[in-house]
Amino acid sequence: MKEFTFSEVQHHNKENDLWIVIDSKVYDLSKFANLHPGGVSVLLAKSVAGQDATNAFYGLHRQEVLSRPQYARLVMGRIQGEEETFKIPIPGTISKVPYAEATWLADGFHTPYFKENHRKFHKAIRTFFEEVVRPEALRCEESGKRISQEVVDKLSEMEIIAMRMGPGKHLQGRKLIGGIVQPEEFDYFHEYILNTEMARFGTRGFMDGMLNGAIISLPPVLKYAPVELYERVVPEVLSGKKYISLAITEAFAGSDVNGLQTTAIREGNYWIVNGTKKWITNGTFSDYFTVGCKTEKGLTVLLIERTDGVNTKAIKTAYSSAAGTAYVTFDNVRVPVANTLVQMDKGLSVILSNFNHERWAIICGALGAQRMIVEECMKWAAQRIVFGKPLSSQAVIRSKLAKMISRVEACQNWVESITDQMNHMSHEQVSDKLAGRIALLKQFVTKCGRETAEDATQVFGGRALTTTGMGKVVENYHRTSGYDSILGGTEDILRDLGVRQAMKKMPKEARL
Ligand SMILES: Cc1cc2nc3c(=O)[nH]c(=O)nc-3n(C[C@H](O)[C@H](O)[C@H](O)COP(=O)(O)OP(=O)(O)OC[C@H]3O[C@@H](n4cnc5c(N)ncnc54)[C@H](O)[C@@H]3O)c2cc1C
Repeated sequence: MKEFTFSEVQHHNKENDLWIVIDSKVYDLSKFANLHPGGVSVLLAKSVAGQDATNAFYGLHRQEVLSRPQYARLVMGRIQGEEETFKIPIPGTISKVPYAEATWLADGFHTPYFKENHRKFHKAIRTFFEEVVRPEALRCEESGKRISQEVVDKLSEMEIIAMRMGPGKHLQGRKLIGGIVQPEEFDYFHEYILNTEMARFGTRGFMDGMLNGAIISLPPVLKYAPVELYERVVPEVLSGKKYISLAITEAFAGSDVNGLQTTAIREGNYWIVNGTKKWITNGTFSDYFTVGCKTEKGLTVLLIERTDGVNTKAIKTAYSSAAGTAYVTFDNVRVPVANTLVQMDKGLSVILSNFNHERWAIICGALGAQRMIVEECMKWAAQRIVFGKPLSSQAVIRSKLAKMISRVEACQNWVESITDQMNHMSHEQVSDKLAGRIALLKQFVTKCGRETAEDATQVFGGRALTTTGMGKVVENYHRTSGYDSILGGTEDILRDLGVRQAMKKMPKEARL
């Protein structure tokens, strides 16, 4: 890289060559086609160009702008004898911003839960996500296109699809993230890491598009599918060659799962399925659907393949269509009886117990996103100058930050404690002891997230309403944090469920 003295840069600027200095790096903007003095960028104003434009730049742009490929055509150099203060973080870096990371990742803090292996795993996942997945996430969130097969193949090479189903025998014989963690040591804290890290891209639609349909629909297949079905479907999905969705909700029944109207009527060795399903995540591109159907005496869960009579149509929502949200219709679909996942008419309890892992995964994602928003706000409050002082010098802004920090730390501690319980309980114990607690935790985390979205919007001002630039992460979060409060059970329903579960366990002799 070329070296310049500062006076050389200023001289060039007088010659109308337009050089600027951002954090000790020199950029020759005269090579930047279509820009002219006093033109499209504030940075090209005579009062800024040719001088140290660091503050002006960071007042306008996110740091990542400097490493965009389209700016590689600028001539870049360095000011002789000067060091950069703001280094672009290398993938996998732990943020030093206070409260930007959970305490177990912050310097000098302790944890009863996370071990050395979790740290190694975390580093590998954050690096992989930032290098391989983030660019794809940003592209797809904007274009609305589904995740590419190329990135899915990379996820499956690292066994990320398999790991996101949780610990279990489906991990046996797999080389998890190049062998960093052994299948038998993989626990819910490893899975927590996957879920929180993928929430850090600030791309909520893509996050669901990153095969969240499989996370909620494959577990019943793993647990209940007959051997032949298991051996055919599970390897295809875990290798990323086929896609699967959970299809429970209908226009007629969401919270009230018992009210489903999609019917499955037995005809010899087949079920004949008729009905519609609404808002099915990844449904636009799924090959399989785990479907709740009404049968003679209750609910039955079937694995339905995309065959004749199965149709999907994209539903437009407020987040990116990268999520593949679909309206699904079943029109006289013939489903082999061998595709019955759950013993006839026992479907309701399976659907309900499947919700625990789904809700916990949503909780982890919501927590990861909430923490990232705290980091965005801490940085912005320190760098934005208002009335001649940083935003953080305003007591009202500090008060908002205090509330955001308190919320995310409270959520963090509760999530870690529930995750630890999950590590020590069987599936049945989780259903019995944790369903109500997970429900209460989910409504708490999502409510906190929505309050933080409001506060963050005020901290960022107009930028929080802009889909590109400084406030784009807050904009995405503000627009989409409500999703977590609805998907997998609404806040009101979960509050009610949590207390009903607790009341069921009230000892008969309990009196004041
Ligand atoms: C983007 C998106 C993706 C989704 N992905 C999937 C998917 O992949 N698979 C799938 O099966 N479903 C999916 N869903 C559906 C989602 O799980 C439901 O939207 C959710 O369960 C709520 O159901 P509902 O929308 O029908 O609301 P309703 O059940 O109609 O409830 C409406 C409101 O009434 C309240 N309410 C309802 N009953 C009560 C009560 N008894 N007491 C008090 N308040 C009550 C609720 O809290 C809610 O606020 C998705 C939804 C969206 C928007």
